Amino acid sequence: MSKQSENGTPAFLERIFDRLQVADDVRQRLASAKLTAQVSIPVRMDDGALKVFQGWRVQYDDTRGPTKGGVRFHPQVSREEVTHLSFWMTIKCAVVDLPFGGAKGGVCVDPKGLSRLELERLSRGYIRAIHDLIGPDRDIPAPDVNTNATVMGWMSDEYAQIERRQVPAVITGKPLGLGGSAGRVAATGRGALQVLQLWTQRQDKSPEQLRVAVQGFGNAGYHFARLAHEAGYRIVALSDSKGAIHDEDGLNPEPIWKHKHATRELKGMVYCDESVCEERDAERIEQQALLELDVDVLVLAALEDAIDEDNAGRIKAPLILEIANGPVTAEADQLLEDAGVVVLPDVLVNAGGVIASHLEWVQNRIGDYWPQETVEQRLDDRIGKAAEACFERAEQEQVSLRTAAYLQGVGRIAAAMSQQGTRTYFNERAERRCGGGASGRQSD
Ligand code: NAD
Repeated sequence: MSKQSENGTPAFLERIFDRLQVADDVRQRLASAKLTAQVSIPVRMDDGALKVFQGWRVQYDDTRGPTKGGVRFHPQVSREEVTHLSFWMTIKCAVVDLPFGGAKGGVCVDPKGLSRLELERLSRGYIRAIHDLIGPDRDIPAPDVNTNATVMGWMSDEYAQIERRQVPAVITGKPLGLGGSAGRVAATGRGALQVLQLWTQRQDKSPEQLRVAVQGFGNAGYHFARLAHEAGYRIVALSDSKGAIHDEDGLNPEPIWKHKHATRELKGMVYCDESVCEERDAERIEQQALLELDVDVLVLAALEDAIDEDNAGRIKAPLILEIANGPVTAEADQLLEDAGVVVLPDVLVNAGGVIASHLEWVQNRIGDYWPQETVEQRLDDRIGKAAEACFERAEQEQVSLRTAAYLQGVGRIAAAMSQQGTRTYFNERAERRCGGGASGRQSD
């Protein structure tokens, strides 16, 4: 991930800081991660050889609560990428007003090249390596790209074995039988659909009028597509890492997902070996062509930098829904804005996952479990409230939805940091001690 997305650039953040007139303390504290750990994870492979994998855990900021963020297994994971992702988690948790800071983890590995047992050893080894850094009141990992409930189950079991006690709230996204929450698996897709619904209602559009293309038919993209199809949207294209399919009459995501996973279930594999391209009834197109289709909504649910300055000018969709983290680069974001393309930003759109994770964490801590409807209702309420606040702010201040979301999130973090004390606060106290003008104000 060489390019940096708009929402991570210092220039973009400086504009947010300036608009909010935040204290210099806040600028300095948000300029770098609070803690960055690089770990080497030795794993005994099935053939007896030892392989050492590199991993990271970055805790960006914990002013508003324990840090929270997923763990990614991918060959392109790097310290830089994990740091960006941890920063976005910090903003996201604040945008939806969760009592969490932001973190992220990652291991540089192609997990599809590992056997199930090797993957289990790697997952457990990662937790042994970062055990001292995590905990329900410290830092709480969760799934991300190429990690899922099975992996979270192994990780929380490893933590429990080291601790010699059950600590389910240390990791979220666990299987239901191991303290997971009803509604967690589909939560990111559900939250994204909720944001899209609220936006399109504002534009007086009904789902039946909208044709949707989805890049990234993984956990988040699939559940979004399934729920959107059920809500009446026409899903005309889907893609994954192996290819893309297109059908103007509409695709039904559920049978395509089942078909894609049939081989995996038969072979007992953790990852799916098949692709959407196996669908014989749909036209096969290039992955890049999906991004450039003439559709009403383009959903980005794969990885970072899907739209950059090279392809931004060819995007025909008037509306982009960012389910992936950082799928639009800084340059592309500006080009899209200039072209009048509306971008519903990642830090709002994909917050459904962390909202459900928070609900899982709460259930683990109180030792009681809620029905799926309760979890879904709470998720819809929280993301809906955050979305409406962003829409209102964007309209009132005549800024992009991304800027509005950052103003919401950074504003909350800055307020918390100021309540811990800033230069102005301490200078005023010093002045008071010296008999200077004591206003008693604590603001910046
Ligand atoms: P996943 O691994 O389940 O799915 C990713 C999908 O993207 C896979 O189907 C993969 O084949 C596809 N893909 C990869 N490269 C592609 C390409 N070039 N073109 C088209 N498809 C491609 O991961 P996920 O959990 O669904 O996460 C997807 C994105 O959503 C990531 O950016 C992740 O950080 C973000 N996200 C996920 C969650 C969650 O709860 N799962 C929450 C918040 C954000």
